[in-house]
Amino acid sequence: MHELSIANSVVEICAEQANGARVRRVTLEIGRLSAVMPDAIRFCFDVCAKDTAVEGATLEIIEIPGQARCLACGETLDIDVPFGQCECGSENLELISGQQLKIRQMEVV
Ligand SMILES: [Zn+2]
Repeated sequence: MHELSIANSVVEICAEQANGARVRRVTLEIGRLSAVMPDAIRFCFDVCAKDTAVEGATLEIIEIPGQARCLACGETLDIDVPFGQCECGSENLELISGQQLKIRQMEVV
């Protein structure tokens, strides 16, 4: 379950950046195409945050929809899986959004 290691690194990064302060809120961006389950992250986050500066922090997750650009016609399309077909018929897509997983914001007390 790779959510556990992701949650663990999120907690580590936040605890380090908090520099001794308590973390009150963490906002995460999770792309729909990243194959990361927000619910699993939420669960693991609480487990990993225990006994750290992040314990008790609210975890906010923003899901970023998948987007790709068609390399044939230049159209941008929304996708739920990391592949697909453009309206023009081309399957030659370049993913432009939805694979990211990053800490957008962190609030300390
Ligand atoms: Zn196209």
